[in-house]
Amino acid sequence: MSSENDDSDGSIVRLLDDNTANQIAAGEVVERPSSVVKELVENSLDAGATRIEVELFEGGKQKIVIRDNGAGMSRADAILALQRHATSKIRSADDLFSIHTLGFRGEALPSIASVSDFRILTKRPQDETGTELIVRSGDLAEVRDAAAPDGTQITVENLFFCVPARLKFLKTTQTELNHATDFLHRLILAYHTIGFRLTHDSHELISYPGSSDPRQALAAVYGRDVAREMVPLLYESPGLTIRGSVSKPSVSKATRSAQAFFVNGRHVRSRTVQHAFDAAFSRLMTTERHPVVALFVEIAPELVDVNVHPAKTEVRFTRDGEVYAAISRAVENALLTGGLVPEVTVQASLPELATPTTLAMPGMGERGSDRLAPPLRTSLSNYVIPPPPSPPGTLWVPTLGARVDGGGENERGSSGSPPPISSQDWEEGRAERREEGTPYIGFDGYKIGRLRVLGQSRNTYIVAETDDALLLIDQHIAHERVLYEQMMNGATESQSAWGVVTQHLAVPQTLELSASDARVVQERLGALEKSGFVLEHFGGDTFVVRAVPSRVADKAYLEILKEIIEELTYSSVARRLLVPHESAIIMASCKMAVKKGDPLTMDEMTRLLADLAQMRNPFTCPHGRPILLALSHHEMDRKFHRIGPH
Ligand code: ADP
Ligand code: MG
Repeated sequence: MSSENDDSDGSIVRLLDDNTANQIAAGEVVERPSSVVKELVENSLDAGATRIEVELFEGGKQKIVIRDNGAGMSRADAILALQRHATSKIRSADDLFSIHTLGFRGEALPSIASVSDFRILTKRPQDETGTELIVRSGDLAEVRDAAAPDGTQITVENLFFCVPARLKFLKTTQTELNHATDFLHRLILAYHTIGFRLTHDSHELISYPGSSDPRQALAAVYGRDVAREMVPLLYESPGLTIRGSVSKPSVSKATRSAQAFFVNGRHVRSRTVQHAFDAAFSRLMTTERHPVVALFVEIAPELVDVNVHPAKTEVRFTRDGEVYAAISRAVENALLTGGLVPEVTVQASLPELATPTTLAMPGMGERGSDRLAPPLRTSLSNYVIPPPPSPPGTLWVPTLGARVDGGGENERGSSGSPPPISSQDWEEGRAERREEGTPYIGFDGYKIGRLRVLGQSRNTYIVAETDDALLLIDQHIAHERVLYEQMMNGATESQSAWGVVTQHLAVPQTLELSASDARVVQERLGALEKSGFVLEHFGGDTFVVRAVPSRVADKAYLEILKEIIEELTYSSVARRLLVPHESAIIMASCKMAVKKGDPLTMDEMTRLLADLAQMRNPFTCPHGRPILLALSHHEMDRKFHRIGPH
């Protein structure tokens, strides 16, 4: 034992005094002004407040005032609340597993009070008069009766004045303010019925009155234009509900800053939630941008561990996989049931109130359908793809068990080849349909219902109609989607007219490449093969092309192949990274898809849309561009003044 130890009994282990313990806890719970705001506002919410006001001065570094109209505290409770581990929210460790409040550790008030000049003014509705408590240097300095409105007002001044080390690390006023604003925005999303107000140096920054309509909260946080472009998320299973809103691809951000995830009303960071969301969204579109989302997981509290971090933003689930799957389904349901179809409409204000499911696709399809199963399959209820015609001539030998595409590519006459030999059935079917117009194609899994082709506009857009709307479909993007999904799933399974079908070349072609092209091709032979181009390394920078997609077989397929390779290399060099397999397939599908300006016959268009109807996501290209545009009959009639005062 060192002689410097002045304890008479020589013991060096001792209990910390309360104030020191509180200051240490403060290091965990309150690291900055915005964490004070967080703890105090959460207390107000736990106290049942319906209106919460936050006043900040100098980003909260100088002064923070939180005012609520909640339950208030009795004098005795207010004094007790300043004790460490004093909480009204749990009574024993067992309660920890079923927490329904935001706070429960009983650390916030004593921690904050230990590092600031701290004042509570509080009154319960049932009390005549309120109580004022003043804490200085961590000691309760004054307790007295005071006139006060119902509720609680807490004033925190000179935060960290006694902790110079921490004071030094405080960020700029703007940074602190941004944190506080972000936090309040998230609360508005999570507690849309509650009114929030934020002022900074007496300027009003947030004034949200509270509303029963969650869309008002979205509008307050993200702006009305964004809110209008958001579709509701909903997935329910026993013990687990996902709700919220996600933006259509028309609205996206470069960062994830406009994404908020909540578990049981508490904003959280969770790998499971973030990954599930990202994965679901990226299955729908490949894009570098991020959608706007407010997603709420409601789950039995005993299945969540929120106590991972004192600030309670990390969360773990007991049944991770279930949460993951539920989020995926919620996102896919929301976007695939119509959220991805932009509507042609002129709308001056937010749509009127409606329950979430009826908003999924306003003006189109059945309103209010609350079918929750994921629409992963579609059916071709009224349309049967005709049997394939036999391959033209002996030059081409279909391989990989796939059928030859006889989709009338040649009918355009651009290549000068003879028209495909069509089977008798197909001819008969065509004749029959001619009388009734084009056949209906079932998009049954989606809110579109069914559609049929009316014609082509500018050799670029397919004009179609559903029972509720007129549709414009971008032929290039639609075809790109069909090719992309089939390539991703493996071309050999292709059963559709517009998909990928590989044809062996009777005379293989050699392809001399530059060294860098050759390197990329060598690495991406698999992706090219899925696109229908079967290449073999011949040695050096030379490859042999053994098979090509039948769709381009009668065209300058080597040119198309070279274009694809060029783009693969360009993109790999630009990113200093080999293009990923999926990107390679996206590039190939773009190059191979029918172009804008290509005339299509009614049959070709019908077949293309029948293929599209089978896609997992028939609404956007892999980059997120929309495939369909809808003008609802209702909107059309309105514009022609068929609805209204006539
Ligand atoms: P916790 O929130 O974890 O219980 P706190 O230190 O934040 O711990 O608060 C301690 C107790 O003080 C709470 O349990 C609650 O009973 C009371 N309290 C704090 N803030 C308020 C408030 N704004 N209105 C009413 N009671 C409050
Ligand atoms: Mg608390």
